[in-house]
Amino acid sequence: MPHQIRPRPGIMDIALYEGGTAKISGRDDALKLSSNENPFGAGELAREAYRRAGHDLHRYPSTDHAGLRAALAAHYRLDGSRIICGVGSDEIITFLCQGFAGPGDEVLYSQHGFLMYPISAMAAGATPVKAPEQDRTTDIDALLAAVTERTKLVFVANPNNPTGTMVPLSELERLADGLPPQVLLVLDGAYAEYVEGYDGGAAMVDARENVVMTRTFSKLHGLGGLRIGWGYGPAHVMAVLNRLRGPFNLSNTQLDVAEAALGDAAHITRSLSENARLRDWLADRLNAAGVATDRSFANFVLARFASAEQAAACNAALLADGLIVRQVSSYGLPEALRITVGDESACRRVAHVIDRFMDGQR
Ligand SMILES: *Cc1c(COP(=O)(O)O)cnc(C)c1O
Repeated sequence: MPHQIRPRPGIMDIALYEGGTAKISGRDDALKLSSNENPFGAGELAREAYRRAGHDLHRYPSTDHAGLRAALAAHYRLDGSRIICGVGSDEIITFLCQGFAGPGDEVLYSQHGFLMYPISAMAAGATPVKAPEQDRTTDIDALLAAVTERTKLVFVANPNNPTGTMVPLSELERLADGLPPQVLLVLDGAYAEYVEGYDGGAAMVDARENVVMTRTFSKLHGLGGLRIGWGYGPAHVMAVLNRLRGPFNLSNTQLDVAEAALGDAAHITRSLSENARLRDWLADRLNAAGVATDRSFANFVLARFASAEQAAACNAALLADGLIVRQVSSYGLPEALRITVGDESACRRVAHVIDRFMDGQR
């Protein structure tokens, strides 16, 4: 008998998330600049903690993550009782959608926002709604105008991926103040550490009942493969998220390595300064070659070409040279390529290939 097993309505409408390409077939010297990974990898202290974690594989991990939460609280001067740790910030995003949005509810985000927002919204049965951006930058008025009585969550990544642009805290405050009382604002701070003097919205969380911040160890700390993220929010929101979180969602290995990474000041300093230096260098080289960029506040640059065809041709030229960058048409930017800031030799290779490609376009 044919089965009649059916998923919940809407599940099969979810477009599968595609990660950045990692390989070029027939080549083992390819350089991956498609997932905003730290070009220096994890720091020495994190690697050491990872090796040590191998001795305790038979032990169940802590369920309350007290050690890592205390370390995060001390490092960022936060109230540790209102921190939650998850399997990447993706898991915190999932909990937020599960906990606060369901069928009939709307989850708002901006035009070129992170694709995990609509994916997680739909997985919870809610309806994702996009508000337009202004010159590839979050438009607070457009977000406020798109809010309805069905809106439950608003996601803003600041800086945003894949655009690299950001809005000032005063704009985020204006958004938080302008939302109706049933709406929770989520500030995704995946790239917050790259912005000097920016707290990712932590002070906004402390001052309000309607703001949550998400953060990750995947970018600056070079731990994307280990899957560790966290969130910070008001107690009433954390009470919800902690009920959705599995008791053993993070392993000892994840917890120990994250804590070690937080204490690796040398690796953090080097990663930040090299990123800032090479990001500006790469943007200058692209601009000189006739490729437009917006000022990026993150660890990647969005290169904008004259057309989708030109972007595709440049992508092919980069691939032919073993360089993998990110095509971002799924983010509504078919004329652009997102390029992770690599180490110096990677940036030089990218600049060289794009320079040569643009020469051929004239
Ligand atoms: C990379 C990224 C994340 C982090 O995801 P993890 O699950 O923590 O690896 C979150 N938000 C945005 C906008 C990102 O680009």
